[in-house]
Amino acid sequence: MGYAPGWRIRCLKCGLTRDAGEAGLIRIGAIGRSYTLGYCSRCKRLRCIVVEKTPDRGRDVSKTAKQ
Ligand SMILES: [Zn+2]
Repeated sequence: MGYAPGWRIRCLKCGLTRDAGEAGLIRIGAIGRSYTLGYCSRCKRLRCIVVEKTPDRGRDVSKTAKQ
């Protein structure tokens, strides 16, 4: 419910992108871009990751931005 579709995470180290919901991020908020710490399945360890909107699903985000 609190999860906004249309978001993804990207590992700053290897560039692997992943669906934010799949990664376990429940709520991100209306921030356009934010950095956090998350587990990267390619690096096999915690990495600094960026949370960003998925370009082709941006319309879904506008709906949830106002919360
Ligand atoms: Zn990585």
